[in-house]
Amino acid sequence: MMHELGHAIGLQHEHQRQDRGQYLEFHCENLDGYEQAKRKAAVDERAYFEDDEDIETRMSLVCNDDEIAFDYLPAALPFIRQKDHRLESEKAKFKYYVQLDSFDYDSIMIYSSHANTPIDIDATNPKTWVLKRKDGTAVWQGGSKRAADAKITEGDIARVAQLYFKARGATLEATGLGKWDGQRIRKARLTN
Ligand SMILES: [Zn+2]
Repeated sequence: MMHELGHAIGLQHEHQRQDRGQYLEFHCENLDGYEQAKRKAAVDERAYFEDDEDIETRMSLVCNDDEIAFDYLPAALPFIRQKDHRLESEKAKFKYYVQLDSFDYDSIMIYSSHANTPIDIDATNPKTWVLKRKDGTAVWQGGSKRAADAKITEGDIARVAQLYFKARGATLEATGLGKWDGQRIRKARLTN
């Protein structure tokens, strides 16, 4: 629920950050529907692939391209990395760069390790996970294995503050992009 509110406010998924590869492993092959997608990609009725592309290459495209994932493996859609938005207008790209300098593993906007896996798998086995940290350990949405105990992190709050700094009359510099500094935001609000 808090996660959905985060979207409504304008937050993106933490695990879809452009730089997520530095922090997370994405195991597309563990997604629900992967084997079916593989069979479909081998036949390729929609002609997405080149004839000489092997199945590994095709599946890598299925797992990383919005359009192909939409048709072949919808479970992959909420994991696809954000595109590089650096060449877009300030306004268009702004929301994609509302993120901390550090990666927020406990964010309310991250998916838990076993998200979108088949229901009959053993979710305690790391080999079945779709997302894991570089050290092989799990990530939990809101920092807790129990969904009922999920919490908003300081990082989540900081991102909301960055998104709405204009409403507060402050400047981007004043919020110290990347850091939650309530003191500084309050001060900026008073001086603008
Ligand atoms: Zn979401």
